Order: sequence, then C-alpha cells, then structure tokens
Amino acid sequence: MNITIALAYLLSSILFILGLKNLSSPKTARRGNQLAMSAMLIAIVVTLTKNEILDFTLIIIGLIIGSAIGAIIARKIQMTAVPQMVALFNGLGGGASALVALAEYNRLSGDIRIDVIISMVVSLFIGAITFTGSLVAFGKLQGLIRGTPVVFKAQRFFNMLLFALFLIMGIIVTINPANSTGLLIILAIALILGILFVMPIGGADMPVVISTLNSCSGLAAAATGFVLSNNILIICGALVGASGFILTRIMCKAMNRSITNIIFGSVGTVSVNNNNNDKRVVVNYTEEDASIMLEAAQKVIIIPGYGLAVAQAQFALQELVTMLINSGIDVRYAIHPVAGRMPGHMNVLLAEANVSYDLLFDLGDINDSFQNTDVALVVGANDVINPAARSEKDSPLYGMPILNADQAKTVIICKRSLSPGYSGADNELFYQKKTLMIFGDAKESINKIIKLLKT
Ligand code: NDP
Repeated sequence: MNITIALAYLLSSILFILGLKNLSSPKTARRGNQLAMSAMLIAIVVTLTKNEILDFTLIIIGLIIGSAIGAIIARKIQMTAVPQMVALFNGLGGGASALVALAEYNRLSGDIRIDVIISMVVSLFIGAITFTGSLVAFGKLQGLIRGTPVVFKAQRFFNMLLFALFLIMGIIVTINPANSTGLLIILAIALILGILFVMPIGGADMPVVISTLNSCSGLAAAATGFVLSNNILIICGALVGASGFILTRIMCKAMNRSITNIIFGSVGTVSVNNNNNDKRVVVNYTEEDASIMLEAAQKVIIIPGYGLAVAQAQFALQELVTMLINSGIDVRYAIHPVAGRMPGHMNVLLAEANVSYDLLFDLGDINDSFQNTDVALVVGANDVINPAARSEKDSPLYGMPILNADQAKTVIICKRSLSPGYSGADNELFYQKKTLMIFGDAKESINKIIKLLKT
C-alpha cells in the first residue's frame, strides 16, 4: 500500500479513537463528533484516490443519492424518531457489508484464498443478521410491529438448528469457495436468524438489542475490511464493534440483565393490568397544585423520560428549573440510563436546552438522595420509575434498577393518561397517596406551572 495512504489511514484511525474518547462525556461529545467526522472524511477521500478505482461514475451517483437522502432525513427527522433512525442505520451498515462481501465474491469468481473466503462468510452472516434484525427493531420502535415478544414453540431449538446449518455450510463453502449456492444458503439462514433473534425481545429490553446490533454492524464491517484488505475498514469496524459491545454491557448492567438472557430468553413478557375489577383511584391534580408543592419545596429532583422528547418540553422544563433555582431551591436532574428510546437520549435532549451538565446525575449518584427530597417531578417518564421492577416477578421490568422517585415526599407526574410506558407494565406509583397526577401534554403542563409561579 502506498505510504501516503497508509499514513492518512493512521491519522484517520487516531482521530476515530480520539473522537470515541471525547464521546464518553457530554461535555466533550460535540468535539468527539467533529473529530470522528474529520476521520471519516479523510478515510473516504483517501480511499477514493486509490488507483484501484477504474470508474467513478457509479461512485458519484451513489454519493449524490446517498447524500441527498441523508440530508433530507437529517433535516426532517423528529427528535423522537432518532432511535428508529439509528436502528435503520445499523441495519443499512450490516446490509452494505453483506453486499460488499457478495460483490467481491462475484468479482473473484471462485478463485479465493482461504482467509478471504472465511472473512466473506463472516461478513455475509453477521451483516445479513444485522440487516433483518435492525429492520425488526425499527418496526418495533416505529410501532409498525407489536412491541410484545413474538415467540413460537421450540423457537430456541429452531434457532440452534439454523446456526448448526450455518456452521456446516460455512465449512463447505470454505473448503470449496466455488460453491455459490452454499453462500446463498448462508445468506438466507442469516436473514431468517436476524428476524428470529429480535422478534422475541420485547418489553423494556430494546436498548440492549439496539446496542448489540450496533456492535454487530461494526463486526460485519471489520470482516468486510479483511475481505477487501482495507485497513481503515478493519480498524473502524473493530472500533464500532468494541464500543457497541461496551455499550451493550452498560445497557445490560442498567437493566440488570445478562445478554444471553435477553437474546435467548424471550424476556419482556408484557403483563398489562387488564383487571376490570380494579378499585384503585387516581386523583387528578392541577398545575396549580403542582406549583404550590414546588414553591414550598427545598429539594426537587426532575426525572425526564420519553414523554419529554414527545412533548419537546425540554426548553420549558429548563425554564422552570432556572426559576426554581433562582428562588433558592436545590434542583437536580436524575438520568436513568435507558430513559427515552436510545442510549443518552435524555442527555441529548437536555443539551439542546443548554442544561448545565453539573445538574445532571446518573442513577447511581442520585438514587440515595430521593429520601431527602421534597418533590420528585416526573416529566414523561414511566418505566424508569415503576416500582414493579423491584417486586413483581412477572413484570417485564423485574430486576431493572429504577429511579427511587417513590421515596420522595411528594411525586408529581406529568403525562397525558394512565397508559403504560414502553414495557407495557402497569405503574402502581400513579395510584399512591403521595402522587399528584397532572394529566396533559408535558410542555403545556410545564408552561402552565411556569405561568402560575410567575404570578
Ligand atoms: P416510557 O416509555 O416508560 O414512558 C413514557 C411515558 O411518556 C408514557 O407512559 C407516556 O404516557 C408519556 N408521554 C408520551 N407523550 C407524552 C407527552 N406529550 N406529554 C407527557 N407525557 C407523554 O419512558 P421511560 O423514559 O420512562 O422509559 C424508557 C423505556 O423505553 C424503557 O422501558 C426502556 O427500556 C425502553 N427503551 C429504551 C431505549 C433506550 O435506549 N433508552 C431503546 C428502546 C426502548 P401517556 O401516553 O399517558 O402520556
């Protein structure tokens, strides 16, 4: 490889690593993104200068179509739909790796070294699983497919059978690379397995699926790097694979689940309370009641959730927080690792409203403070404060650490109805005496509270 290209790839790799390092804190995340974007630009430009490229026509057409679609999506996408978009991106990454492996197989027409054919099989298999798995995840997050687990009898056995078949076909194709039917069978198995892996996962466990698929898309890209002998693709893919894996571990820890339990256990069975004899009563409080409680409080913890993103209430909420702080109240935000619909969702939302990072506290750092807190103000959150996670063994949330909102003296919950959150689990906290349910769109409710506090 040309020394200039090698050095440029090295520079790009260093920038990618520095980018990732900076992404580990909200304070430096913007810089991290800029570094990673420059790394990608260098990688693309340098790859395009390689003299192996004989014709730029298709590349330019692809660049124009891809950039146009990307620009339109970036401008139009709603903040609440970003998780689906990430799922789709993962899928397209995996799909692209599988297609490149197939194209390279076609180009080499059967005359393939053993290391290359193994990389092709791996790239095709992981890439295709990532593709269909991500499409199912997209469908679930978009509400196109039921969020509840879809399972059938002997599903685990069937999956294992398919996996065994893949291993056999993998060996056959490796021994005889000219066997293109074998490669197509591997593709079909992987496409089916992707669907079968994600369909049974429901309840609140999608965060782990999304980060796992993200990791898989990186692994598929790294394998494709070996197919093409392209160092930057190997490094980039390995970085995505490893960081996705670390994220998966963080998410598993946040949910108190093991990855094997999530992938093979079809966890997240929904147990919505359909009890028609439900005698519990909910008191419908008003924004006026909430403003009185907040005015009288000394310590307030805000718990944002997915509904904050839906209502786009982050700016109003920050205005309220600033007012409370200015009147001498100790206010902090409690951030649950799986609040919202993607890792870091709440941090991104609150950063948009210029919330100081010093006000944001992770679950582990703030959970003990709830017992000394006057008001826990819950804005569009539900699963992350559901006490069923602690005690109800058949709840889809069972075992997941939650924010201890129920330990505060008063809990104010802003949401539109008694509907369950993503997991579908009923929330007992809505019915407790210390809870003030303020029904309505979060932004409207917060704005009303601000207005009342001003008068
Ligand atoms: P939930 O999904 O549990 O609850 C969100 C609540 O917001 C709903 O109950 C809804 O109630 C309310 N809401 C919706 N729109 C509005 C609005 N305009 N104004 C006020 N309230 C509104 O969210 P949480 O953040 O508590 O928990 C996240 C869940 O999503 C977890 O189960 C997590 O596992 C899952 N998940 C997380 C991912 C991640 O990576 N973070 C990825 C995929 C899933 P109502 O309709 O009554 O208003």
